[in-house]
Amino acid sequence: MQLEFADMKARDIAAKIHSGETTSVEVTGYFLERIEKLNPEINAFIKCDRDYALKQASGIDKQIQAGEIISPLAGVPIALKDNIMTEGLSTTCGSKILANHTAVYDATVVSKLKKSGLIIIGKTNMDEFGMGSSNEYSHFGAVKNPLGTSRVPGGSSGGSAAAVASGMTPLALGTDTGGSVRQPGSFCGLAGFRPTYGLVSRYGLVAFASSFDQIGPFAKDITDLSLILSIIAGHDKRDSTSIDQTAQDYAQDLDQGLDSLKIGIPKEYFDGGMDKAVRQSIEMVLEKLAKSKNEIIEISLPSAGYSLAVYYIIANAEASSNLARYDGVLYCHRSSESETLMDMYLNTRTEGFGPEVKRRILLGTYVLSAGYYDAYYRRALQARKTIANDFSRAFEQCDLILSPTSPSTAFGLGERLDDPLQMYLSDIYTVTAPLANIPAVSVPCGSDDVGLPVGLQLMGRYLGEKTILSGAYHIERLIANG
Ligand code: GLN
Repeated sequence: MQLEFADMKARDIAAKIHSGETTSVEVTGYFLERIEKLNPEINAFIKCDRDYALKQASGIDKQIQAGEIISPLAGVPIALKDNIMTEGLSTTCGSKILANHTAVYDATVVSKLKKSGLIIIGKTNMDEFGMGSSNEYSHFGAVKNPLGTSRVPGGSSGGSAAAVASGMTPLALGTDTGGSVRQPGSFCGLAGFRPTYGLVSRYGLVAFASSFDQIGPFAKDITDLSLILSIIAGHDKRDSTSIDQTAQDYAQDLDQGLDSLKIGIPKEYFDGGMDKAVRQSIEMVLEKLAKSKNEIIEISLPSAGYSLAVYYIIANAEASSNLARYDGVLYCHRSSESETLMDMYLNTRTEGFGPEVKRRILLGTYVLSAGYYDAYYRRALQARKTIANDFSRAFEQCDLILSPTSPSTAFGLGERLDDPLQMYLSDIYTVTAPLANIPAVSVPCGSDDVGLPVGLQLMGRYLGEKTILSGAYHIERLIANG
């Protein structure tokens, strides 16, 4: 009988491969079959290359048979968001402008995954260039939430989240600029992590907003998440913003030192509007934490109200500059209609970019333009610093800050498409960690009245990944124990 790998944790699948009970080829074949069956409906994958995946798997099987187990996850498949360069595979960023682009090199995270024996099973759908919160802004069509197919999976890494939640892969990487790993993690009932900026190399990640972009993992639980983080983290001299730190084993001692944790609850977050189910689920966890001897204190983040505006000014400013490179000259779509060079630029970008990307380029160019730079962009940079200072002060009083990941559970497909502001609001709790350069995790903590998952966010100090992951592990245990 074939094992049901879809419901298993990545480390358990790996253990079965390493003990010889199964092989990486068998496991990879199993997930490829699930993708064939489920992807036409869910649309989580843009590209899946059977031969590419199986060739890697058989190579790893040979190594394992020769007695070499190169990492605790060797042999297990992983999916990658389609803005991560993967040599020989398409890397489209969910955009028409890169629809025919094949990467010519591997991003650092991809080299690290391959070195650790993980199998790249495919490239996942995403909001175009990472801009969105619902995965409806993709040239390759919307992704459906596997837990309720009339709902969005969240965005922009919605393809990666849906792929794991539907059991098409045990693990996936996404990218988080303003919440794009944590928010889809929350909508799809998964653990999703945003590392400290600079902990995971951005070399080979297509830029959206460079001072925020971070690659982060999705998994079914915190232990798997920590194992994969241990593989992708670490200094990379090819990324000038990479932190000079050696990688750690983040999965070790997850259950240590939890009683003494002080958890801060930002009062500004709980004053505002969040769905009843979200509030109730969070409050339930707070009760459990209080019972398990953790100290819960109220804290204040006075500038929280500016976060969304500040994020959208800076991110769009950076995006407008980063996306200037798609002009039809080098590696992207080129309009065939043009007579002059200027026309070619104009037509290429008009045809190649979708409406959300155009909106952001316009906004970003506006806030950087001579007359408005000081009024918007410079002030936003100053406000970013003030927000970061709020967090530094808060972390003098507590070890972790707890909040919902998003104010709602997964909303309906199409529901927010005509209202960008409403769409942006689903990031209200996630944009602050990137503004303050700190790490944050989303972990499932309950569900609403139709059974859709609620996510809880923990934010920690700069490079405080170990504390965050231990805290999230602790919460996972408290919830599992009822
Ligand atoms: N939803 C946010 C945005 O649209 C965050 C995106 C992201 O993290 N890539 O900008």
